[in-house]
Amino acid sequence: MTTAQEVVAYAKSKLNQKVTVPTNPYGGQCVAFIDHIVQHFSNKNLAYTNAIDCLKKAKSQGLEVIYNNPNDVNLIPKAGDFFVMSSVASNGVDYGHIGVVVSADTKGMTTLEQNIDGYSDKNRNGINDQLEIGGGGYVRNNKRSYAGVTGWFRLPYDNKPKPTTSTGAINHNGEIYSSLTTHFNPNVMYSSLSKGVTGYSRMKIDRIVIHHNMTTDKNIAMQTWYESSKNWTSAHYEIADNEIWGCVGEQHSAFHSGDSTMNRRSIGIEHVNSTWGPDWKISEATYKSSAKLIADICKRYNIPIDAKHIIPHKHVSATECPGGIDMAKLIKMAQEVSKGGTVAKPATTQKPSGSFRVKVSVNDLNIRKSPSLKAGKKGFIKKGVYTITETTWVDGYEWGKLKSGAGWIALKYTSRL
Ligand SMILES: [Zn+2]
Repeated sequence: MTTAQEVVAYAKSKLNQKVTVPTNPYGGQCVAFIDHIVQHFSNKNLAYTNAIDCLKKAKSQGLEVIYNNPNDVNLIPKAGDFFVMSSVASNGVDYGHIGVVVSADTKGMTTLEQNIDGYSDKNRNGINDQLEIGGGGYVRNNKRSYAGVTGWFRLPYDNKPKPTTSTGAINHNGEIYSSLTTHFNPNVMYSSLSKGVTGYSRMKIDRIVIHHNMTTDKNIAMQTWYESSKNWTSAHYEIADNEIWGCVGEQHSAFHSGDSTMNRRSIGIEHVNSTWGPDWKISEATYKSSAKLIADICKRYNIPIDAKHIIPHKHVSATECPGGIDMAKLIKMAQEVSKGGTVAKPATTQKPSGSFRVKVSVNDLNIRKSPSLKAGKKGFIKKGVYTITETTWVDGYEWGKLKSGAGWIALKYTSRL
């Protein structure tokens, strides 16, 4: 499969060349360059279409098309996308124009385009001037705002889930879910698709965020994610004993982590509790279902199964979530599933990893009475090396307990030795 980087690199390799494609009789047109790339990387083609009609053509070929919305400044193309814009030729006809995006931000994009200057025939010999003078008929670098841009389309890249792949994803009414999904919740959940939500387009998926419901009733938990509930929260999956509920398709951002970037790059998994607080445990069957799902997601998106990529909600924002879920145990179980092992044997609760030393190199790091931003301060720690005997995540920070008994410090501002 193609990556966007490969498309950009290939387009760059055509700089200053007149790119043609056999299906386009007009030689060095803007469309010929893009059609050449499309045909090089896929079994699709644009032949033969005016630039202005390329979005329609791309859509008819099953390619993903995004229409520009000038009111949504965060809706911008990505590297490797093909933008289409309105462009009126000297004969008064809007043939449109098309190019490939090299980079883009909210203000504009850098591009590669062929025949930038369009059609003109000042010497009236019936041949486009650009082809005669060796200028615009060739691939050139350009910069543009989004003025006149009607939209863009893209090839199906590796980081997009594909329906019914060999890796097992399934397409349920247009939503992409793990094939391990046992139930689909038919209610409309809050997601990046919801009306009024902008700027939550999906990024490459490389994290799984683990949550607990804070209730032992999965239905009560899922109801809070319905659009109709107006809670504006959601998760991709709900795990209960031997049940994996599909709630928000993986190709959409769900709203679970409290951080917009993390929501865009992650899949959120919620777990029903088997006990009430303060323990907020989950059952062995729920661990098992979750481990299977995590292993499947990691396989499909090529995510390593480790603590860096499978993270508790509290690593992302200030919360006690995921309650009593033992992250080390869950990750270990998912690793066992991915190795082809079983998860039948109950994993034991992980012991604290023992003490370690950290270096403090800032002057204003608070010592807290307990591991929380709300806890009282006991002055600042001096620069130097300290031993940490215990760690915990609270308020979005990892806290370390000082061996001296003086209190806790935020480990974010230290380096581990
Ligand atoms: Zn959570």
